[in-house]
Amino acid sequence: MSKVVIITTGGTIAMSEDLKTKTIKPIDQDTLVQMMPYLEEYGPVEMDHFINIPSPHMTPEIMYQLTLHTNQYLSKEDISGVVITHGTDTLEETAYFLDLLITSEKPVVVTGAMRSSNELGADGPLNLINSVRVAKAPSSRGKGVLVVFNDEIHAARYVTKTHTSNIATFQSPSTGPIGTVTKKEIRFSHAPLIRDTYESVPPSAKIGLIKAAVGMDDLLINTYIDNNYQGIVIEALGQGNLPPKMVKGIKRAIDKQIPIVLVSRSFNGFVDDVYDYEGGGKQLKQLGVIFSNGLNGQKARIKLMVTYHLFKEKSEDLQKYFDR
Ligand code: ASP
Repeated sequence: MSKVVIITTGGTIAMSEDLKTKTIKPIDQDTLVQMMPYLEEYGPVEMDHFINIPSPHMTPEIMYQLTLHTNQYLSKEDISGVVITHGTDTLEETAYFLDLLITSEKPVVVTGAMRSSNELGADGPLNLINSVRVAKAPSSRGKGVLVVFNDEIHAARYVTKTHTSNIATFQSPSTGPIGTVTKKEIRFSHAPLIRDTYESVPPSAKIGLIKAAVGMDDLLINTYIDNNYQGIVIEALGQGNLPPKMVKGIKRAIDKQIPIVLVSRSFNGFVDDVYDYEGGGKQLKQLGVIFSNGLNGQKARIKLMVTYHLFKEKSEDLQKYFDR
C-alpha cells in the first residue's frame, strides 16, 4: 500500500510553551512522532526530520534543498504524497517556492500550527491529520502545492497569512479556499487553472522588496542597486502607481538591467497600466516595469528568484511569466 511521507522543518507545530514565562520555544520533534499512531489509522505514514527551525530562519537555499528532498520522495513508486510541516510565518513563501518547482502530479501539502504542542486548543495535531488525509486523496492530485489549515485547503499560489495568532490565519483573499476537509471527506470546490512550473535551478539572485507609502522617494531603490541586488519587487499603491519621487530610482534600476516587478499593496486584485500621470501605471509600464498577476509582494519575490536565470542567461522577457 502506498505511503505518505511527512517531512518536518520545525515551526510552532514542533514547539512548546513555557507555562511560567508564556514564551514559545523549539523542542525536539518528538511531539510530532507521538502523532504517528493517530496518523497510521489513515494508512502507512513515514516521518522524516529534515530540519528543525523557526520559519523566520528559513532561507531560499534551504527551500531549494527541501524541494530536491521532496522530489526524491515523489519519484518513488510507493509514495503517494508528501506532507511538509513548517512554521507559519514564512509558510506561504516555501509553499509557493515548491509550487513553482515541483512538477509531480502527486499531492504535496504544507501545514503547521498557530498554537504550540502543549497549549490549550493546540491546532497542530488536527492540521497534521487533515494534511495526511488530503495527501492520500486521489482528488488532491495535479492541483499544485496545497496548504491545509483549520479544515480548509488552499492553493499555494493564493494563500497568505492574514492574522498573527488566530488559527484561521490562512486565507486566499481573491479566490477563497479550493476545498474543505470534513470528518469524512476531502471536498474540492475548484482548482487553480494554471500550473506554472520552472526548471529547478538554485536561487542565487538577491531580490529586494519595498512597500510603497505616501510621499516616499527612491532611497530604498538606490540602496538595493548600490548593494548589488539583482531584482526588486515593489508593493505599489492601488492598481499599480507610485509616488513621483520613486520614479528616478526605477529608471536607474532598469538602465542597469535590474528587473523591477510591481504588485499592489492592496491584497485583492491586479495591477494594471491604467493611470496616466507621473508615477502612474502607464508611465511605469513604458519604462519597462514588470506588472504582476495578483501575487503578493513576498510571492512575487519568490517568483523573481525562481525565474531570474531565464532573464540573466537567456535574456527572456519576464513579463510573460508574471502574466501567468
Ligand atoms: N514563528 C513561528 C514560525 O514561523 C510561528 C509558527 O510556526 O506558526 O516558525
